[in-house]
Amino acid sequence: MSGDVVDRCGDGSGDDGERVGRRDDAVRAAVEQGLLGPDAPIVGLLDVQGIRASATALRRAFAAVAAPGTAILHAFAVKANPLVPVVRLLAEAGLGAEVASAGELALARAAGMPAERTVFDAPAKTEAELREALALGVAVNADNPQELRRLDALVHTGGTTSSPLGIRVNPQVGAGTIGATSTATATSKFGVGLRDEGAREWVVQAFAERPWLTRLHAHIGSQGIPLSLLARGVAETYALAEEINARAGRRQVDTLDIGGGLSVNFASEATEPTYAQYARLLAEVVPGLFDGRYGLVTEFGRSLLARHGTVVARVEYTKSSGGRRIAVTHAGVQVAPRTVYVPGAWPLRIAAYDAKGRPRQGAPVVQDVAGPACFAGDLLAEGRALPPLEQGDLAAALDTGAYYFGSHYSYNSLARPGVYGFAADGDGGVAFAVVREPQTVAEVVAESGGAHADALTTLRASESR
Ligand SMILES: *Cc1c(COP(=O)(O)O)cnc(C)c1O
Repeated sequence: MSGDVVDRCGDGSGDDGERVGRRDDAVRAAVEQGLLGPDAPIVGLLDVQGIRASATALRRAFAAVAAPGTAILHAFAVKANPLVPVVRLLAEAGLGAEVASAGELALARAAGMPAERTVFDAPAKTEAELREALALGVAVNADNPQELRRLDALVHTGGTTSSPLGIRVNPQVGAGTIGATSTATATSKFGVGLRDEGAREWVVQAFAERPWLTRLHAHIGSQGIPLSLLARGVAETYALAEEINARAGRRQVDTLDIGGGLSVNFASEATEPTYAQYARLLAEVVPGLFDGRYGLVTEFGRSLLARHGTVVARVEYTKSSGGRRIAVTHAGVQVAPRTVYVPGAWPLRIAAYDAKGRPRQGAPVVQDVAGPACFAGDLLAEGRALPPLEQGDLAAALDTGAYYFGSHYSYNSLARPGVYGFAADGDGGVAFAVVREPQTVAEVVAESGGAHADALTTLRASESR
């Protein structure tokens, strides 16, 4: 199932073939060790070695094009995989965290992520959240003029903060192939739209009036944004920083936060584009970015984690309807809402394993891989040619380490699957560690108002008493 394996750049982001081998070993070991079976019909698996390799590839790619001594913080976009042990693994690998809610900030802290490596971006930060971020010394990028006014008040009443403060801009360079993840369209909800009348001048003036503003931030988009468009957005942000600094007569903007957004090739096992390709393109298009005058922050999410996560689900039943072969599995909308609701934009590759976790052989037949939820569209893959899945087999949804099993959707009160990290045990086998316990049915009830069962039946309008 991996004939397309390549390591085109030899830059550490490859090793795609080894990754497939590790995944196959982990699926078999998960069955052998009982993590996966009739009573645990779905799990998420995370490849620890693969995650470390991606973090290394990212750091190397930017270090290779930046002037020696350039401060570069790679802040992992926590929403891509909001699990505390994952954030701690990345912290240990030298990365930071980009958080976008009080919850993400709290879990980055629980992971031990230092405040000085944390960046808080969100379009709807409350006053309390801003106050907390400034008290902690976490970097904050103001999304809009109203939020900047809140920062004004906090900076003036709170005295000094060690938080680096900036403004998020939207270079409005356009959309990629997926509307929902394109953040640099003319009407995007994020940041200050630089091409709107008067907006650019407003940003320049805002910096002139606030010596404590030191950063510009832009995130052009996620999956589906071509490298050239990402680079154009960064170039526009850089040009604005140069303009602000020329006006200030000093290097007021000392750090550029260029966002994340490197796409993942969900159609094959090949890592493409690579961090090295993107960094080299940036160096070509925006050479001043790397000449040592600016510190850099990046915010990659999907490209760091997607490849290293796999949802593995048992085939509970197989059937046929209207001539279509259907494998009914335990993985559907609860772990893959984007794929289920917008299958054209978010296709996933499926790998077939037998009940013992060995890659299933056999001439491919067209079949649907269905999920457990009660609506007809709950399909992980429709009309897909795969070796024929049998009852008790396993269907693996590949490349689901980012934005999938970490971000569970509680449709039909389906329980969150357990998540396990895996690594070679040094003895030819595979060792697992619990990253997140499987959710129990009792927890589902508790989260669904179980403690308030009579809340509505005992509520009475006062006049009816
Ligand atoms: C989602 C997001 C990211 C991460 O995007 P990826 O495509 O996962 O790399 C980075 N920055 C901001 C502001 C985001 O909203």
